[in-house]
Amino acid sequence: MESEIAEPVPADGHVHTEWSWDAPTGSMARACVRARELGLPAVVFSDHADFTPWTTTPDGRRRVIGAHAASGLLDVAGYLAAVARCRERFPDLRILTGVELGEPHLFPDEAARVLRAGGFDRVVGSVHCLPEGDRLVYSPLLMDGDPLEVVRRHLAETARMVAGCDVFEVLAHLDLPALFWPADRPPFDPYALREEYARVLEPLAAGGRVLEVNTAGPWPAAPVLRWWRDHGGAAVSFGSDAHDPGDVGRGFTEAMAWARASGFRPGRTPADYWVRD
Ligand SMILES: [Zn+2]
Ligand SMILES: [Zn+2]
Repeated sequence: MESEIAEPVPADGHVHTEWSWDAPTGSMARACVRARELGLPAVVFSDHADFTPWTTTPDGRRRVIGAHAASGLLDVAGYLAAVARCRERFPDLRILTGVELGEPHLFPDEAARVLRAGGFDRVVGSVHCLPEGDRLVYSPLLMDGDPLEVVRRHLAETARMVAGCDVFEVLAHLDLPALFWPADRPPFDPYALREEYARVLEPLAAGGRVLEVNTAGPWPAAPVLRWWRDHGGAAVSFGSDAHDPGDVGRGFTEAMAWARASGFRPGRTPADYWVRD
């Protein structure tokens, strides 16, 4: 009988808790319970710091960008106290502090204040919104227009974030709006934006940073992990982007197979990033 050695599950590097403004069912303690059940070697609580808060309309679907919030809407002291409680309660689980900064290149002073207050183990950088005149708009809301142009603009904004901001280590959900591609159009073709992807991946790799495999999407588009490797990308992180404890570690089996097939393998310890073959 043939037996397969199970791959050690990687750390979940992107988990939200009740300390994220958009996670009403989040729970740090229950996420720890779930991570232990799954045998995860580590979990990173990367709660949101968004300086352009989104509000959800009554139908629960549309996100509208609200007024500028210097705090990032993250109670850093409360968050750190909760992590300390969880570390005491779950001594056998490795818990890393973290933060997901939204558009930190547009809000350098605010982002620096949050980082100073938090002293986080891991900083994740994200583009969620695109400038539209003097406003920022959640990019999936723009997909009714020219969707390829929206993904192109998203990648260009991400390239600006990589070039203009060195405070984050991991780049989250690279081509976010592509997943919201209109069903009545021919499917999204990432090869049509090969150059635009390169303008993100090359400097990200040159800076020794990490590309996230985000299983909430999944993101990025299928060929992009291989492109990441081709551009010199040395490491990938796995993140469920869970906003509810039940989603911690979701889709990791498929994501691990995808990363393997794209030329990455586990790092030195199970909690480390995966590295290029
Ligand atoms: Zn995000
Ligand atoms: Zn997130």
